[in-house]
Amino acid sequence: MSYVVMLDAGHGGWDPGASYYGRQEKNDNLNLALAVGNILEQKGIPVIYTRTSDVYQTPFEKAEMANRSDADFFVSFHRNAMPVPGTASGIESLVYENTGAAAVLARNINEELKGAGFADLGVIERPGLVVLKRTRMPAVLVEAGFIDNEADNRLFDQNFTAIAQAIADGIQKALEEEEAMKPEYYQIQTGAYRNQELATQQLTQLKSQGFPAFLVYEDGLYKVRVGAFLNLDHAVAMEKKLREYGYSTVMVKKAAVL
Ligand SMILES: [Zn+2]
Repeated sequence: MSYVVMLDAGHGGWDPGASYYGRQEKNDNLNLALAVGNILEQKGIPVIYTRTSDVYQTPFEKAEMANRSDADFFVSFHRNAMPVPGTASGIESLVYENTGAAAVLARNINEELKGAGFADLGVIERPGLVVLKRTRMPAVLVEAGFIDNEADNRLFDQNFTAIAQAIADGIQKALEEEEAMKPEYYQIQTGAYRNQELATQQLTQLKSQGFPAFLVYEDGLYKVRVGAFLNLDHAVAMEKKLREYGYSTVMVKKAAVL
C-alpha cells in the first residue's frame, strides 16, 4: 500500500501572498508544488493537488479538500517574508505540533533543503494556522526561502530543480520512515482456494469450532484465515491449536494500515 500525498500551493487568485518587486509568492508556490508533484509521481508516490492553476481558495477550503480526499499527508508550499525586506534568509517548516508523523516529515524536508543550499531555520510549531490545524492528516507548511531576499530568490531560481528534488526526497524518506514504524500483526492461514465454495466450507467449519476465522480475496484466491494477533506468541499459540485440529497452517505477517 502506498501513501497519498496532497500538495498545496499556498495562496492563489486574488491573494498573491507575499510579493517583492512584482514577484508574487502564489506563482513560486504553484511552480514548486507542481515540480515536487512530478518528481513524487515519477517515484511512484500518488499525488493530489489543492490547485494546479491560479485560483483562490480559503485555507478552510484547502483543509476541507484534504479531509475529503484520500490524502495521508499534506504539504503546503509557501515563501517567507519579513516586515523589513532582506533581513532574513533560509527555509523553515511549520507544523501544528512538532511530534509524530508531521515532525518526521518536516525534519526530512528541512534536511534535504539544507543539502540544496538553504540555511535551515528549523521546524516551528504554528498551531494557529488553518491548513495545519484543520487537516486531519499529518501536515507541514514549507517556507521555501524568503521572497524578499535576493540571495534566496537567486537560489530558488537557479537551483529550482534541485530544490524540488530535495523536497520530494524529503517526503519520500519520511514516508519510508513512517512505513517502517507501522505496527505489524499476524494471521494464520488455513487454506487458499480458487473455489469460493471450498473456502466457505472451511470457514464455516472453523467458526463452528470456535475459531475467529474470516475470508480474504487476494491474488485470485479465497484465503481462509484466523486472527489477527498483534502479539506473535498469541499467534503461535493459535497456530498450534489449529494444527491440533488437523489444519495445515501458514503464518501471515501484515503491516497495519494506518
Ligand atoms: Zn504564504
